[in-house]
Amino acid sequence: MITCPSCQSQNVKRNGHIHNGKQNHLCKDCGRQFVLHPTHKLISEKEKALINKLLLERISLAGIARAVEVSELWLQSYISELYASCPEDLCADLPDQAAMEAHLEDKFDKYIYEIGALKKTLHRLSLQVHGKILRHLNKI
Ligand SMILES: [Zn+2]
Repeated sequence: MITCPSCQSQNVKRNGHIHNGKQNHLCKDCGRQFVLHPTHKLISEKEKALINKLLLERISLAGIARAVEVSELWLQSYISELYASCPEDLCADLPDQAAMEAHLEDKFDKYIYEIGALKKTLHRLSLQVHGKILRHLNKI
């Protein structure tokens, strides 16, 4: 069953195809057009800057994903990139990356469409490290 990503209505009809051949849909209730599981969506630098700001506001990741209209999966990998791109001195105090990735992969299997795993991992980071990351984001 197909549901509208904006209003969750199931009153959805097929609406032609987009440029890459994927089936387009139209919500008859709110008028939104959408493609299921869009791939290779390009996130602009402007959107990334907005996401960085929203992260600083401590808005939930699910909330950010909805507001900026990116998938939570994309957001999760974006945040992983932010961690990976931290300067050396910032990363020194972060948990072992391999251990963190293994942990996330385990969780990822269980909650493939949920962001809960990342939230829990972020929670476990000390406030000190969290503060450093926020300061790093402020400088971007
Ligand atoms: Zn709708």
